[in-house]
Amino acid sequence: MIYIHVPFCHRKCTYCAFFSMAVTHSSTTATRRSPSPNLGEEQMARYVDELIEEMERRKDEQPHPIKTVYFGGGTPSILPMEQLARIVEGLHRWFNLSQVEEMTLEANPEDLTPEYLADLRRLGFNRLSIGVQSLDDQVLRMLNRRHTARQALEAVENAHKAGFENISVDFIYGIRDLKDLKDFKDLKDFIDFIDLVTHVSAYSLTVEPGTALAVQVEQGRVVLPGEGEVVRQYHAMHRQLSEAGFCQYEVSNYARPGYESKHNSRYWDRTPYLGLGPGAHSFLIFDGGSTSVARVEKRRWNNPDGTVGEEQLTDTDAYNELMMTSLRTVRGLPLSLVPEGQQERLHRGMQPYVDCGWIVREEDAYCPTAEGLLHADGMAAALFIG
Ligand code: SF4
Repeated sequence: MIYIHVPFCHRKCTYCAFFSMAVTHSSTTATRRSPSPNLGEEQMARYVDELIEEMERRKDEQPHPIKTVYFGGGTPSILPMEQLARIVEGLHRWFNLSQVEEMTLEANPEDLTPEYLADLRRLGFNRLSIGVQSLDDQVLRMLNRRHTARQALEAVENAHKAGFENISVDFIYGIRDLKDLKDFKDLKDFIDFIDLVTHVSAYSLTVEPGTALAVQVEQGRVVLPGEGEVVRQYHAMHRQLSEAGFCQYEVSNYARPGYESKHNSRYWDRTPYLGLGPGAHSFLIFDGGSTSVARVEKRRWNNPDGTVGEEQLTDTDAYNELMMTSLRTVRGLPLSLVPEGQQERLHRGMQPYVDCGWIVREEDAYCPTAEGLLHADGMAAALFIG
């Protein structure tokens, strides 16, 4: 599987701590297919040149046929179509894409014109992840998003008309205090248009250090709801999505049956992946060949300044990562992946969570309940080995 990081955004959302640069981008969405050169276009063309060079350099790190490709960011849909086409050509040139099942592009609603969507289909994209976030214009402005609620709805409709059957939308809750959940207008409008959507990623708004939101909260210009209110909104959202036919399969992810994200599910299964582009992370497994080392697992990351970081995972790191990722999914922690020597300690550590209803003990796995998913990170941390 391959992840492509596109490090550009039109402008910075207040809550965002991802690595991305705001481009100087004078062309409008209507002219993006034949833009006049400017700093933003040149920056993006240079980025694509370097990305294709990186593909050539690192092609042997994914020698098997690729099953999923994910363009994330940043805002991949900021790229002019000719640059996106060059990246896809590069992928076909340097990797075996003959067995690709899922090719996703993260997109912002304002970029998804019918013309752009048709070109995406032609390039082979079969899944969109659209950054809707909210259907309340006041909230969208507060988050410094560029689109309106109306544009978000149009983007989903246009994507559907262009032939995308697999459409995911991002949604943020826990933004405001709601006296009455009937005032959860975002959620209500959201559910009304949900028929065209197959997947929802729903996140509570978090305040990351160093973001504009952190400053606004510190200065008292933005007051966010307390934990109890956020949990109340989570339950309201969970109930409504369940009634609309969605199943929660990870803390923040809901899908109609059969539409779980193949790419993200493989991250949680700890499948190796290659991350390309500045800021991208990779997870690589090497077998030791003829050496006495059976298997080496590495995390590698591209720093924004062009340098590369690398860390070889110890058995302890691998165990703790397994705990962290598996307890965030409804499939839970398969006992077959827990080393024999850790089983007794694990059973002892899990018992309080089984007793309080956060975990269900299946024959061959420990699986979090909907309530337990809310506490996944805390449970995992308590079960870490040192
Ligand atoms: S569009 Fe996405 S990546 Fe870009 S600033 Fe906003 S949240 Fe961050």
